[in-house]
Amino acid sequence: MANILIAGGGIGGLAAAVSVARQGHRATVLERSDVFGEVGAGIQLGPNAFHALDDLGVGTEVRARAVLIDELQFMDGTTGERVARMPLTGAYRERFGNPYAVVHRGDLYQALLDACRAHPAVTLLGGHYVVRYEQDATGVTAVTCTGRPFRGDVLIGADGIRSAVRRQLIGDGEPRVSGHTIYRSVIPMEQVPQELRWNSVTLWAGPKWHFVHYPIAGGKCLNLAATRDDAATEPVAGLPVPAGDVIAEFPELGHAARRLLELGTGWRAWVLCDRDPVTDWTDGRVTLLGDAAHPMLQYAAQGACMALEDAVLLGDLLRGAESGEASLGRRLEKYNAARCERTSRTQLVAREMGRQLYHPAGDAARARNRMLCSLTTDELYDKVDWLHAGVR
Ligand SMILES: Cc1cc2nc3c(=O)[nH]c(=O)nc-3n(C[C@H](O)[C@H](O)[C@H](O)COP(=O)(O)OP(=O)(O)OC[C@H]3O[C@@H](n4cnc5c(N)ncnc54)[C@H](O)[C@@H]3O)c2cc1C
Repeated sequence: MANILIAGGGIGGLAAAVSVARQGHRATVLERSDVFGEVGAGIQLGPNAFHALDDLGVGTEVRARAVLIDELQFMDGTTGERVARMPLTGAYRERFGNPYAVVHRGDLYQALLDACRAHPAVTLLGGHYVVRYEQDATGVTAVTCTGRPFRGDVLIGADGIRSAVRRQLIGDGEPRVSGHTIYRSVIPMEQVPQELRWNSVTLWAGPKWHFVHYPIAGGKCLNLAATRDDAATEPVAGLPVPAGDVIAEFPELGHAARRLLELGTGWRAWVLCDRDPVTDWTDGRVTLLGDAAHPMLQYAAQGACMALEDAVLLGDLLRGAESGEASLGRRLEKYNAARCERTSRTQLVAREMGRQLYHPAGDAARARNRMLCSLTTDELYDKVDWLHAGVR
């Protein structure tokens, strides 16, 4: 049995705690917030995330709280025409072995938190901001801002896009500001006109903007997310924005989508950030996981899915590890090597989806529409296979 320290109690950190505890280790999660919780609205989960959640023993709980989506729809946001649809029922679920779903972030988080609390080998400590680490031949120490040291065999930095563990380990500065602002709102489904209550993830694409909506909370609410490439230069997180300002940002939006956008209330804005991929995020007994290792734009809807996959693999590779074992670092390197190609590809694909698929204008948009239109359902499945099939 090894003592695993985890900096950060987000989706990735909790998944890592469950994963290593299930392999017989002790996990201590050091979270900077006093309370363990997750803010935000909906999150899309591909079948690959459900494979990971099943491996973590919480797939059933998350599926029970999720909305299983019937299709992904790609619409031309200015003309209102449907360009392509990818069915997510029968053949899709058969091929990928799990559904595509949307879930409230709080529900996903709660399932992981319940699993941590139910496991006697997991200790959750709030109010502990990890500032740096020290390591030697016998272990690693996570130092928190109170000066209190925590000693373990391994430290997993799951402390998000502005990870303190990454700062020391890689030192690649602040994240890259994407120049894209996303406005998010959640509205009760009863306010949505019947004819627009689709059990789909629907994306309306326009020149330098796109608008996505999908049902969450068992279909009781509609999650709205409208993104504009506005060349924003400063990171922003959760800034309240008046509804009129959001509507004014999307003047070209067609009629049906506009009706939905106009229903939004309590809008908040984020300026999205990511980082360039790196291949080496391990230093001896210390490694990174989730957004700390490979933060990505949300356009592929895979950041949390990747964190869950990381957690499962890391747990698997720590199976049978012992405290004081000399080869612990090699296990972490193996995890890093096995994950970096897939996560780097996802980071880059997410960026390109914004540029090439969601935001083109004029001829480029028309060419995109023709290309998407020409794809059969099986060809669409082939395109997402590398991602949605997971890593089993
Ligand atoms: C708008 C938007 C939409 C998204 N949609 C999707 C989607 O549909 N599907 C999907 O799979 N992904 C999506 N993502 C990505 C997903 O949210 C992230 O990839 C995921 O939350 C990363 O989890 P994490 O645990 O690695 O990091 P985080 O969620 O950032 O958690 C980090 C945790 O560490 C704590 N912490 C930070 N620093 C320290 C420290 N020094 N010491 C101790 N604790 C610390 C934080 O308080 C936090 O609890 C989206 C992201 C955004 C912004």
